[in-house]
Amino acid sequence: MTTKPTATDLQPQRAIDDLKELRALTGNADGAQRVAWTETWAKGRAWLRDKLKQLPVELETDEAGNSWATLRGKSDRAMLLGGHMDSVPNGGWLDGSLNVIGALEVLRHIASQGTPPVTVRLVDWADEEGARFGRSLFGSSAASGFMTPDDVRNLTDKEGIKLVDAVAKFGVNLDKAKDSGKQLKNAAAYVELHIEQGPVLESMNLPLGVVLGTYGVERHAIRFTGQSAHAGSTPMDKRRDAFGAAAKLGLEIREIARRNGGVCTVGSVVTKPGIVTAVVGQCDMTLDQRHLNADSLAKMLQEAKDASQRFAKEENVGVEWNRIWQIHPILFNPELIELCDQAIKETAGVSHRLPSGPLHDAAEVARANVPTIMMFVQSLRGLSHAKEEDTKEEHLAMCVQALDRLAGKTMNWIVEKGK
Ligand SMILES: [Zn+2]
Repeated sequence: MTTKPTATDLQPQRAIDDLKELRALTGNADGAQRVAWTETWAKGRAWLRDKLKQLPVELETDEAGNSWATLRGKSDRAMLLGGHMDSVPNGGWLDGSLNVIGALEVLRHIASQGTPPVTVRLVDWADEEGARFGRSLFGSSAASGFMTPDDVRNLTDKEGIKLVDAVAKFGVNLDKAKDSGKQLKNAAAYVELHIEQGPVLESMNLPLGVVLGTYGVERHAIRFTGQSAHAGSTPMDKRRDAFGAAAKLGLEIREIARRNGGVCTVGSVVTKPGIVTAVVGQCDMTLDQRHLNADSLAKMLQEAKDASQRFAKEENVGVEWNRIWQIHPILFNPELIELCDQAIKETAGVSHRLPSGPLHDAAEVARANVPTIMMFVQSLRGLSHAKEEDTKEEHLAMCVQALDRLAGKTMNWIVEKGK
């Protein structure tokens, strides 16, 4: 027998219906089209504002374009529930919007119970994806203080429009964007739900997982320099083949990843002169290494460097490394990890802990020293940033339930911590 939900019940189905409504409003046959700093994005945000207006919350948009809805509690100490309404072009219907709409349903539930013990705030971060200007985590990194306006000012979209001008159209003065940091002043916890965007939970047949943190990344350009020479006249033992060394390294990094429990990827290899009749004189490759543990990440990097020296020697070529980009692993709060684990077990019976390969707004908030936790819900076939992105409806319902439980536990935790 099913009973009709009452006004004070959590209604996961309402969140699923909202997600479908948003998809119809801001998507097309190719997928979601809520690219940040576009009209369709603004339309999605206006839709969210209309939903929020039905609750006893205060609405504001901060200096970086992040939207906030605040439900005042008995204490000013705040639990933040976050997500992002923006999508990549031809994106999926859940990446970002599930976090916001799941949080909206939880906010409705909390508001229906009267004044909460702590203040509860829903945040829709501006431009998580960076799809238009190639700079992701715009709003959250402005708030965390890790964004430098001069680094992003002159980024252009494919029409040649500058970021500084595009954001101004939406009321954001780039030089004031970091003033949004004051929004984190009373933040006592940040909770983010997200689709996994990978195949791990599905392969284990589990609906939900606790995210331990986001991977640290080492990204390098590696150049092997040998001597280009005629493919017919140069004996095999006289060659200085830059590609030979690169190829050996390309295979070795898979062993390095396996040994250390991380992931390593050679994403690009370019040979010169790059013709069929010449030994490769110069080979440029990229290496991306990721690990949740900083020491293991450093070890993977050192092992790859040592291997490159060894292979360079074997092939009688030179090797040089240049760092493209690096970020340290960002670990979520250990106590909130336990609460998330409990909330998942109470909802789904079984939980699993896993790292996040992609970065998320949660990583920026954690960097600003706000205790942070993320929960993942299973992604079908691990697909994301594509119109095929999907999650079973029963799992969507479960993740809203688990988020609601986690929010309840987190509010109690904030109260206890404040004593
Ligand atoms: Zn996302």
